[in-house]
Amino acid sequence: METHDCLSAVRRIDLGVHPTPLHRMERLEQELGHRRIFIKRDDLTGLGPGGNKTRNLEFLLAQCLDQGCDTVVVAGPLQSNLCALTAAACARLELRCEVVLNGERSQPLRGNLLLNELLGARVHYLGPVPQREREEQVKLLADQLRTQGRRPYVIENGGTTGLGALGYASVVRELMEQCAQMGLGPLTIYAPVGNGGVSAGLALGNWLYGMPFRVVAVSVEDDRETAGQHITRTIADSVSLLGCPEPPPLDRLCRLTDEFRGGGWGVRTAESEAAVLLLARLEGILSEHVYTSKVLAGMIAELRRGDVSGDVCFLHTGGIGSLYAQYE
Ligand SMILES: *Cc1c(COP(=O)(O)O)cnc(C)c1O
Repeated sequence: METHDCLSAVRRIDLGVHPTPLHRMERLEQELGHRRIFIKRDDLTGLGPGGNKTRNLEFLLAQCLDQGCDTVVVAGPLQSNLCALTAAACARLELRCEVVLNGERSQPLRGNLLLNELLGARVHYLGPVPQREREEQVKLLADQLRTQGRRPYVIENGGTTGLGALGYASVVRELMEQCAQMGLGPLTIYAPVGNGGVSAGLALGNWLYGMPFRVVAVSVEDDRETAGQHITRTIADSVSLLGCPEPPPLDRLCRLTDEFRGGGWGVRTAESEAAVLLLARLEGILSEHVYTSKVLAGMIAELRRGDVSGDVCFLHTGGIGSLYAQYE
C-alpha cells in the first residue's frame, strides 16, 4: 500500500465545491515584483460564507452521521467562522445545530451572528465568560440534550482534531492535481496557524504525498514554540487515527514563523491592515483581520525582503462572514 492511501480510507462527506480555484494574482505580482503569486481560494468552498472549516466538517460530520447523532453542538468566540459553517452544513444534512458563543447577542446582528441565525442554528449566548467556562457549558448542554432524548455530537477544539485536520491533508492531493494540470512545479504555500489544524493537515499531507510543496506556517496567535506544540500534537492524533507511518519532526515538515502575529489573536498589525486593503484594491478579493490578513502580511513581507524564490501560493482560508463585523 502507498503511504498516502491511508487517507482515502477515512470516510468523508461532500459539503463543499471542490476543487476550489487556484489562480494567479497578477497585479500583486507587479506590485511586489515577483514572477508568479498564486492564491488557493478556500474562501470559495461553496458552503455558507465559505472557508477552511468546510473541509474539517467533511470528516467530522461523516463521523457524526456514522455515530447516528442528530444534533451538532459547536462552540466558539462570538464571530466564530466554524460555527457559521457548521450551521450551514447542518442545514444541508438535516441535523439540528446548537451554537454556543461566549459573548452577547447584539442588535443589529452582524457578520457570523446574522449567518448563524439565518442558517437556522439555535444560538446560546453566554455573555463575556472565558473559554474554560464555555467548554463547561457545552458539556452541560450536551447532557441536557441527551436527557431530552437527542443524540448530540460535540465538535471539539474549534474543529482542530486529528480527524478534522485530515481536511487539509487531502488538500495536498487536490493541489497536486491542479498543479499538474497547470504545468506548475513546487509551490511555497503560506498557511495560517490558529489552533494549528490547517498547518498540521497540510504538513502531514505533504509528507504523505512525498513532499510536493513547501509549507510556511504563519502563526496568527501563539509564539513559535506553543504553535509548534499544537501542530505536532494534531499531527500525532491524525497519524494514530490513520495508522500511517510516523512522519519526521515538524521542522522538517514545514517552516513555522511567529513573526507576523503582532499582539496575537484578533489584534491587528499595521501590516495586516495594509494587507487587507492591498488584496481588496489590487485583486478585488476580500480577506478578514484575524487570520488571512496576517498570513498575507507574512507572505508579502517575505517577498519584499526577497526571502523566497519560485512560485508562491497564499492559502486563503476564508472567514469572510466575520469581516462584516470587524468595522464599527
Ligand atoms: C479557524 C480558521 C483558521 C485557522 O485554522 P486552525 O486550524 O485553527 O489553525 C484560519 N482561517 C480562518 C478563516 C479560520 O476560520
